[in-house]
Amino acid sequence: MSLIDQHGRTHRSLRISVVDKCDLRCTYCMPEDQHFLRREELMTREEIATIARLFTERYGITKIRLTGGEPLVRPDVVDIVRDMVGLGVSVGLTTNAMNLHKHLDDLIGAGLRSLNVSLDTFNAERFKQITRRNGHGIVLDNVLLALERGLRVKLNMVVMRGVNDDELLRFVEFTRDRDIHVRFIEFMPFAGNGWGRDRVYTFSEMLGHIGSVHSYEKLTDDPHSTAKAYRVPSWKGTFAVISTVTEPFCVSCDRLRLTAEGKMRNCLFAREETDLLAALRRGEDIAPLIEANVLAKHAMLGGLPPFRPEKQEEVLHDLSARPMVSIGG
Ligand code: SAM
Ligand code: SF4
Repeated sequence: MSLIDQHGRTHRSLRISVVDKCDLRCTYCMPEDQHFLRREELMTREEIATIARLFTERYGITKIRLTGGEPLVRPDVVDIVRDMVGLGVSVGLTTNAMNLHKHLDDLIGAGLRSLNVSLDTFNAERFKQITRRNGHGIVLDNVLLALERGLRVKLNMVVMRGVNDDELLRFVEFTRDRDIHVRFIEFMPFAGNGWGRDRVYTFSEMLGHIGSVHSYEKLTDDPHSTAKAYRVPSWKGTFAVISTVTEPFCVSCDRLRLTAEGKMRNCLFAREETDLLAALRRGEDIAPLIEANVLAKHAMLGGLPPFRPEKQEEVLHDLSARPMVSIGG
């Protein structure tokens, strides 16, 4: 059986946040006064496996991405990766790579082949301003290490006007001799992250800026891809833009989400959640809850108004109470 919403979209992809804590505190993701869940509130490894099995075996989910918070701060993350790989679906992990060197061999041993790493700057001082922590050198070394080990690596850069928009070309140049996939993400609004429409460095600005220096070609995107991919001809890697703010891709969205405390969300910007974990712990059948949650998915942006400048006040007013760190990006 497939998970189809009221607008006819079939869902094949599930993001699972395994923990809401993080060893960095990126300004765009985590408010300074963020409170974290207690351990007993988090899904256990077994509960994650039970819920994931239902999604894959009963509902035809073919892709699982583990995220957080920072998944690598969870002690049993390698076991969770192994459990997910054992379900026979495509498994990825999104990380800030601060501790990747400690887990890389085990993650590969558990069957992980694909990694998304967040890195917003090549400047160590700027890294500290954005993440409120040191560690730029470690992250960069770990990106190179993952490439050396043959993992497919995507590098996520959140582009913020006046913060790091001057580094776009440097990131594109990183793809010249490396089989790496850089993804420029438009700065998205979440609770407590200081978003303003004027701080969004837009998709068209990005292409204009890159195109003023490099010619690039469009690549074919997967029909459900959130990213629009390009390549500088003959360069080894690719770059892409995730244009959630200025050109949302809701029409082809096939993603569902599970927060670290087992609440299901049918959209990154959803304001409604379904508590699967509480029902599971009460011994109830969670299948009807999953189906109802998917069915109710809004046509666009979780029902928020479009992110146009004249709608900014409405967006900020209607935002979900969750910051990105506790949703799981
Ligand atoms: N800690 C891991 C990491 O940083 O990769 C995984 C969790 S993080 C919430 C997942 C992704 O969300 C990261 O690539 C991050 O850059 C992105 N993200 C967080 N807040 C964002 C925002 N306001 N706008 C755009 N992307 C955001
Ligand atoms: Fe942590 Fe990732 Fe959020 Fe940065 S983007 S605070 S690394 S969860």
